[in-house]
Amino acid sequence: MGVCFLSMNNIERILILAPHTDDGEFACGGTIARYLEAGKECYYVAFSYCDDSLPPGSPKGLLLDEMKAATSVLGIEEEHKIAFDYRVRHFPQARQEILEDMVRLNNDIRPDLVLLPTKNDTHQDHAVIAYEGFRAFKKCSMLGYELPWNNLTFVSSGFVEISKDHLQKKIEALGCYESQANRDYASPRYIESLAVTRGVQFGVRYAEAFDVVRSITRL
Ligand SMILES: [Zn+2]
Repeated sequence: MGVCFLSMNNIERILILAPHTDDGEFACGGTIARYLEAGKECYYVAFSYCDDSLPPGSPKGLLLDEMKAATSVLGIEEEHKIAFDYRVRHFPQARQEILEDMVRLNNDIRPDLVLLPTKNDTHQDHAVIAYEGFRAFKKCSMLGYELPWNNLTFVSSGFVEISKDHLQKKIEALGCYESQANRDYASPRYIESLAVTRGVQFGVRYAEAFDVVRSITRL
């Protein structure tokens, strides 16, 4: 009784749903590094590599290259990186296709745990991934991740302690997104501050927080 489903023992395959390249690293890069260090399989899926968001004159697919570099820093294997090319800010028009892709991912990967945006995320693309993700993966444990600059509210009901090394990998991974380096939330100072804040909530040095969407402990 009372077994936390986040116990490493219950989880072998983790699927990270990132609406856009970099969302997964921002939200749970430390947790990904921790699970990989423990020998778990992590699959990273980005639904858009956001060519429309690139600075003028940038080569197409630049964010895809940056995502591949960033997820390698975390330790994700090449064959566990998946990217779709949905148009950024237009996910609501593609809801059904996105759902069908997710159903296929569920059949192929059979994850034990899915990390996805919290349903309180106000970005229209993130909201589609949060809601369609629930529909596609409702038989898995699910944690909603935070991206505070997008969140209307956030219920920090689940926590993963991370080490300084996991935090360093997260910061280094986000440093791979050179095309996005001007954003204030990309600074190492901010990333560390949030990890410190989440750690203070339960008395550890660093952590990442999640909104527990669904917690399943099977026999
Ligand atoms: Zn995003």
